[in-house]
Amino acid sequence: MFMFDVVIIGGGPAGVTAALRARELGASVAIVERYTLGGTCTNDGCVPTRVLAKAARLMRDTQQFADYGLFLAERPTVDFGRVLQRTQQVVYEMHEKKQLLSHLDEVGIEVYSQVGNATFVDPHTILLEDGRTIEGQKFVLCVGGSPRRLPFPGGEYALTHSDVWTLDHLPKTVAIVGTGATGCQLASIFEAFGSQVTLLELAPRILLSEDELIADTIAQEFTKHGMAVMTGIDGIERIERRDGLNHLNYKDRGEIKTLAVEAIILAVGWPGNLDALNLAAAGVEVNRNYIQVDDYLQTSASHIFAAGDITGRMMLVQSASYQARVAVENALLDTSQVAQHRLVPHGGFTDPEYGGVGYTEVQAREKYDCAVAVVPYADLDRAVIDGQPVGFCKLIVDRQTHLVLGAHVVGEQAVEVVSMVSAGMAGGLRVEQLADLEIAYPTFAAVVGLAARQLVRDLRIVPVVPEWRALHQVRGAEWERLD
Ligand SMILES: Cc1cc2nc3c(=O)[nH]c(=O)nc-3n(C[C@H](O)[C@H](O)[C@H](O)COP(=O)(O)OP(=O)(O)OC[C@H]3O[C@@H](n4cnc5c(N)ncnc54)[C@H](O)[C@@H]3O)c2cc1C
Repeated sequence: MFMFDVVIIGGGPAGVTAALRARELGASVAIVERYTLGGTCTNDGCVPTRVLAKAARLMRDTQQFADYGLFLAERPTVDFGRVLQRTQQVVYEMHEKKQLLSHLDEVGIEVYSQVGNATFVDPHTILLEDGRTIEGQKFVLCVGGSPRRLPFPGGEYALTHSDVWTLDHLPKTVAIVGTGATGCQLASIFEAFGSQVTLLELAPRILLSEDELIADTIAQEFTKHGMAVMTGIDGIERIERRDGLNHLNYKDRGEIKTLAVEAIILAVGWPGNLDALNLAAAGVEVNRNYIQVDDYLQTSASHIFAAGDITGRMMLVQSASYQARVAVENALLDTSQVAQHRLVPHGGFTDPEYGGVGYTEVQAREKYDCAVAVVPYADLDRAVIDGQPVGFCKLIVDRQTHLVLGAHVVGEQAVEVVSMVSAGMAGGLRVEQLADLEIAYPTFAAVVGLAARQLVRDLRIVPVVPEWRALHQVRGAEWERLD
């Protein structure tokens, strides 16, 4: 007889969801968190980053004041210390809102938080740093990841996003190495506050996992805002600290170059928190930096499952919670559910914002005969009203079935817009059904209707007389039109 039916290790979105779902299914549950419940999401990732993005956005909005007849006596200046205080205040408010500790406690979950690392001593027992042991019949490992550091000389002078919350002033010059979601969001934030930002990337383009048009558009906009975007570099050589600045030596097309900046931020990956767990004692195999799981999120030890960032699959909050539900149900109910990430709307709060769901155009064309429409935000009445014409909505559909395969958006509320398309995709809407939706006016979401209706014309699902086509009226008979 074990102390608990299921022990969850890690108290982020995956761990908390797993604990609650396991309890909902009637199991006796313990959750173990080494630091504070809430994980990366609340304490170090989405929440504080989103607060900075909001502050950056407010800063940018002031640039539009005069266009709308609003005047500030002076241009706003950034009190970076107060901005950072606000991030910590909102983190606190998020904890107050969620009341995770008392909520978990009230529903009968045994909470071990602020206990340091949990370590396996045998397949059914973990040891806490204070010497207590906890036994579980089953385990769900939800230990997340941490920012990767690179082992070049002077690497200790580089920061990660986690160091941003405790900066003592706004750096005038910032180099950001890595142009995934975190690197690009930080770049946008620092640029809005007035820092001179340089982005460095080994890959040939930024935002490598996004649709190419998203990456190209964001890179162009970043450049327009005055950032330097250096892609395709060979690598970072070293950092030397001299004269109060960090000198970043990097190799670019075989040539060593130096960039002298106040702050260097690495955003180059997110390996799993494996080290402390002593997984060998539990018979759990790892695959490079993550726990190896099968389609059911089961590890090589049949009573141990994993969910969230530690599986190395989809490093997003919504995916962590989804995996947690699947892992717990498979662990407790033997449901053999496959964890699929068929539709994962996601994005970044850059300026401009971007979002995507489903296949990129390149991926879609590898598998399907596709039709693609790209409608500029400038076509939207709402974009004109709000003075935010930058962006586009790309919709990709299968010519045979007319099902939507992917949507990629740059511009205002891009993440919300792709979330709407995602709901349609999940419901199996064909493009002609999407085209007929009476989407509220004037909204940014209306761009989806414009793209869908362009496709139904291109695919000849609705009749258009040849004379009209000859007029090159590609956007068709639309109330909201550019010209
Ligand atoms: C800067 C940044 C911004 C982000 N923004 C977004 C966003 O806007 N939207 C989005 O969807 N995602 C975002 N993410 C990703 C998101 O934060 C993660 O996908 C999510 O937190 C994963 O949840 P998790 O529960 O798997 O891991 P985590 O949230 O990392 O939680 C894991 C927990 O396990 C604990 N732990 C680790 N090892 C042990 C151990 N041995 N014993 C006990 N406890 C342990 C850790 O302390 C941690 O609290 C962002 C990430 C970063 C870094």
